[in-house]
Amino acid sequence: MRYSGWKVFAEGLRGNRGWTRAWADPAPRDSYDTLIIGGGGHGLAAAYYLARNHGITDVAVLEKGLIGQGNVGRNTTIVRANYGLPGNSEFYSHSLKLWEGLESELNYNVMHSQRGLINLFHSDGQRDAFARRGNMMINQGDDAVLLDREGVRRLLPYLDYEQTRFPIYGGLYHPRGGTARHDAVAWGYARAASARGIHLLQNCEVTGIDVQAGRVTGVQTTRGAIRAKRVAIVVAGRSSQVAAMAGLRLPIESHVLQAFVTEGLKPVIDHVVSFGMGHFYISQSDKGGLVFGGDIDFYASYAARGNLPMVEHVMEAGMTLMPMIGRARVLRSWGGIMDMTPDGSPIIDRTPVEGLYLDAGWNYGGFKAVPASGWCLAHLMATGQSHPVAARFRLDRFATGAVIDEEGTGSQHNLH
Ligand SMILES: Cc1cc2nc3c(=O)[nH]c(=O)nc-3n(C[C@H](O)[C@H](O)[C@H](O)COP(=O)(O)OP(=O)(O)OC[C@H]3O[C@@H](n4cnc5c(N)ncnc54)[C@H](O)[C@@H]3O)c2cc1C
Repeated sequence: MRYSGWKVFAEGLRGNRGWTRAWADPAPRDSYDTLIIGGGGHGLAAAYYLARNHGITDVAVLEKGLIGQGNVGRNTTIVRANYGLPGNSEFYSHSLKLWEGLESELNYNVMHSQRGLINLFHSDGQRDAFARRGNMMINQGDDAVLLDREGVRRLLPYLDYEQTRFPIYGGLYHPRGGTARHDAVAWGYARAASARGIHLLQNCEVTGIDVQAGRVTGVQTTRGAIRAKRVAIVVAGRSSQVAAMAGLRLPIESHVLQAFVTEGLKPVIDHVVSFGMGHFYISQSDKGGLVFGGDIDFYASYAARGNLPMVEHVMEAGMTLMPMIGRARVLRSWGGIMDMTPDGSPIIDRTPVEGLYLDAGWNYGGFKAVPASGWCLAHLMATGQSHPVAARFRLDRFATGAVIDEEGTGSQHNLH
């Protein structure tokens, strides 16, 4: 079924009785050509592009819960291409271009909104660093505008410009940055993958990975054993645990990141704003809630829930930046499990087990990566070659030293 404005109108007249299921619910088969473990944004996008770009449809996505209930439906939805280092720069640039055509590609309203992202700076040194980053973004073909304090004030009049501790000097404006509706992205890819014949197996947890003579042969699941020639691990915060099923130890730690939403308010924040003196970023959802978040918790954990010290840290940053936020009431908060690599950049690569692939290490920035990650993992699995924009996302870079350390924080997970 194709979705359209006319279809919505016609169904409204018919009492909405004509809608069909968005995706099929098939029984698992004994074997597939390719298995994707994890039905989050990255796994679903990879399955879709395997079919769409390479004609490979004998594929099943194995999801232990329900589609959209992982981090893909838990994030603060920021979509941007403002990275500086080779490796990240071309990859996120490619991803943003895919985002820009995603709704017509999937025939699904993912509510992609290019409302502009502004990263604030608060010192001369930080201004220089942002000017350099802006030049790198422009060299990559993306957009960046360096704003002085008055330029920022014109766009964001509600910030506290006069505070003595972190005065606002200006901001780096990325007009094509913005937001999208997180779970709609999972649903859109799921529907489009299912329409191309891919099996989406929900409530199907992978409990073991079968390896014989150094080669993957299939997986054990809560819905039975499934054989396959190729298997990809695409499970975000659970990457280390699932890889351990194949005897692999990954350079990844899992940490909790929290997000917050206030009660619905009239439109007040019409950009995405990021604080330069602490980890705090904010936007306003189409329903009116202020959506914001901060830093990861420094303790490694698999608990998908938050804690009070990080709540305090986020609220303190919000109050510093825009004291008016103190009037808003927080409605909800939640946590998600981040797969943190030592250099804060991801991995899309083969593993030492033949036929077993890894797409992981998305840290707290993997939502915007969903289209390009799926595109590049599908390319790797179908052709045996890394896609040019993901060629540096190698698993062995922590052994060879070819790290992509965007923030220069080295192997300190707590500093990312
Ligand atoms: C609070 C928060 C804010 C964030 N903000 C942003 C942001 O603003 N911008 C941005 O770009 N990124 C952001 N992120 C990061 C982003 O959400 C993640 O990097 C990204 O969603 C991870 O990829 P995914 O969508 O595939 O993960 P998930 O949706 O978590 O998918 C992984 C799936 O694997 C499944 N799984 C795990 N183990 C098994 C198993 N054994 N068998 C079968 N299935 C299994 C899980 O159930 C899950 O559905 C944020 C994350 C959080 C938590």
